[in-house]
Amino acid sequence: ASDNMKKIEDIISKNRIKYVDYKFIDVPGTWQHKTHPIAELTEDVFKYGTGFDGSSIRGFQGIEESDMLLIPDAESAFVDPFIREPTLSLICDVYDPDGLKPYSRDPRYIARKAEKYMASTGIADAAYFGPELEFFIFDDVQFDVLTPYKGMGYSINSNEAIWNSNHNSTPNLGHRPRFKEGYFPVPPTDTQTDIRNEMAETMMRMGMKIELHHHEVATAGQAEIGIRFNTLTRMADQTMMYKYAVKNVALRNGKTATFMPKPLFGDNGSGMHTHQSLWKGGEPLFFDRDGYAMLSRTALYYIGGLLTHAHSLLAFCSPSTNSYKRLVPGYEAPVNLVFSSRNRSAAVRIPMYSDNPKSKRIEFRPPDGTCNPYLAFAAMLMAGLDGIQNKIDPTEAGFGPINKNIYHLPEEEKKKIKSVPGSLDEALAALEKDHDYLTKGGVFSEEFINAWIEYKRTTEIDPVRIRTHPYELYLYYDA
Ligand code: GLU
Ligand code: MG
Ligand code: MG
Repeated sequence: ASDNMKKIEDIISKNRIKYVDYKFIDVPGTWQHKTHPIAELTEDVFKYGTGFDGSSIRGFQGIEESDMLLIPDAESAFVDPFIREPTLSLICDVYDPDGLKPYSRDPRYIARKAEKYMASTGIADAAYFGPELEFFIFDDVQFDVLTPYKGMGYSINSNEAIWNSNHNSTPNLGHRPRFKEGYFPVPPTDTQTDIRNEMAETMMRMGMKIELHHHEVATAGQAEIGIRFNTLTRMADQTMMYKYAVKNVALRNGKTATFMPKPLFGDNGSGMHTHQSLWKGGEPLFFDRDGYAMLSRTALYYIGGLLTHAHSLLAFCSPSTNSYKRLVPGYEAPVNLVFSSRNRSAAVRIPMYSDNPKSKRIEFRPPDGTCNPYLAFAAMLMAGLDGIQNKIDPTEAGFGPINKNIYHLPEEEKKKIKSVPGSLDEALAALEKDHDYLTKGGVFSEEFINAWIEYKRTTEIDPVRIRTHPYELYLYYDA
């Protein structure tokens, strides 16, 4: 009776593993971990779990019920490349010891429930997700927001400082990407090929499939590494592995990587466009050679669901105050709630690279790397399924398609187009009203949604709102 141990015994012996590292996701979306000598890992851990104090974890429950359990998922095993002693990493589900039930606020549980719910509807048996995570690699970053008298934490010229530190190591040798021309000249203009190679190689060693990597559009060291799509919960696991690899390889090279959506004003931000498709019985459901952009009715309804619920959906997909500094015109980030096979300012883009039915998918562009991927993928799937169940035709609902450049449309046409929310506040207010599509099948609970809204308001929105912004000094200092 040691099925799980069987699955990992090869990795353990081949790599002379000494430790097991249990990783799990908190509510905002950061990995947490604890480490045991490998002898502590037995089949019982897969059955009865291993304890930790849940009250200290962001978004989990209060002090009165703090004992919680982790149950590792043997399928998630990889050798951790960032721990010196050979260490087996296992991603865990969180359990409530009272009755050994999955913990209601565990984001990975919500993701698993979304997949189960999808299967129960009979619509599809697999949902594939392919996030495109963009990020910046900087030489350094300086902020000290917690010491009030050290000023704002960063100066108005911080963009310039970061840019200089990346490109102006003395002497200035002259190879710089021109403004918004980071995509994508060869070295020496691109100074980050080697570090991206190292990131990609590390992820491959961790068991991920890498398709490519490249410099992104922003001038100051923006990167993207393309990973192969996977099923929902597995892809959320890999999104965490991706961020873990990127940040740790950066640090090993004396640099720092960030997934925040808009670290630099005036240049492109970083998105996490998410490609999605549904399958049933091994057949793709999104392709129809005769449909708009070769999309099936099912795909169009899925798009209808995403766009109809976009405002509340963004409370999970673009869930930081900084997200809305990215979602502005002029930087290839989406602003318009329309679908299009061409437009990069559209919230839903239909990639047209191939007419292979198997690669037919839709790309939802608003998400960014500050999301919790388990919650974001689950929420997108629920919105898409709602569109299919209610046959929401995106054209009848006023979401396009728009094939022309939206900036060049006549004013009358432009006025009809709806936009993404302007702030996290707006997205949370929308979520308060519109969440029945999320609670279907008990996937998201009412209690979880309220806790999320409360957390975002008190921990992020309010603290940002009450702090003086550097630009206010520019505006008002001499008023
Ligand atoms: N960086 C852009 C964004 O914020 C996207 C660029 C691209 O299309 O790859 O969404
Ligand atoms: Mg990109
Ligand atoms: Mg894309």
